[in-house]
Amino acid sequence: MSETRELRVGHLYGSLLNLYGDRGNILTLKYRCEQRGIGFVVEDIGLGKTFEPSGYDLLFVGGGPDREQQRVADDLVDLKAVPLREAADSGQVILAVCGGYQLLGHYYREAGGEELPGAGVLDLHTEHPGDQARRCIGNIIARWDEGMIVGFENHGGRTRLGPTAQPLATVEVGYGNNGEDDLEGARQGNVFGTYIHGSLLPKNPAFADYLIGLALSRRYGEEPLAPLDDSLELRARAVAEGIARREHRRKSA
Ligand code: GLN
Repeated sequence: MSETRELRVGHLYGSLLNLYGDRGNILTLKYRCEQRGIGFVVEDIGLGKTFEPSGYDLLFVGGGPDREQQRVADDLVDLKAVPLREAADSGQVILAVCGGYQLLGHYYREAGGEELPGAGVLDLHTEHPGDQARRCIGNIIARWDEGMIVGFENHGGRTRLGPTAQPLATVEVGYGNNGEDDLEGARQGNVFGTYIHGSLLPKNPAFADYLIGLALSRRYGEEPLAPLDDSLELRARAVAEGIARREHRRKSA
């Protein structure tokens, strides 16, 4: 009998960067671990706190409006950037959604023109074209290595990837990183960024398990995850996909 495994999650700015239910990603990781008898612990790493990367198997940061990103920007650079880069360099799993994703790059120029420094973990930058510009809002379908990801996006910022970052997925319906290059999100090593809220993981169980498997394998070695009954998750995903495709057809008509 293999040792009882446990997933230790560090949740950055959980009370500040939690737009459109991004906390649902934490709940999904918890559910999908505990259904398999895998332990789960989560710790909020908020303002004023730094952290020791080796204490976690997976780090998560959600999205937020420009004003919340401004609130965390200095703290991110002063207290989080170095351990985040250390975590990324060691192959730790990091998942960042929208505003959190933008702040893992080199910088985020928010709608008012202020350039917020990023953690420099992902080779990308993001610029918001201003409050008068069209926002990237709507349901999104994107294709990643293992299949389809569905969700919801709402961001003004336009993200451009540098040469070291790979896209996480390609956009099938929706805007993605910038509404122009059909790229969605970013991946560098085991660092994953995405614009997909919804929240992301509940309706994308294969992606959730991919992240859990990656995180646990670093600490316990490769061990397949027992399958779960995902009938409800997949029904929700089919509904989300149908809404996204109908919305796309209506917009294209
Ligand atoms: N404030 C950022 C933008 O508008 C991120 C928004 C978000 O996290 N949904 O692009």
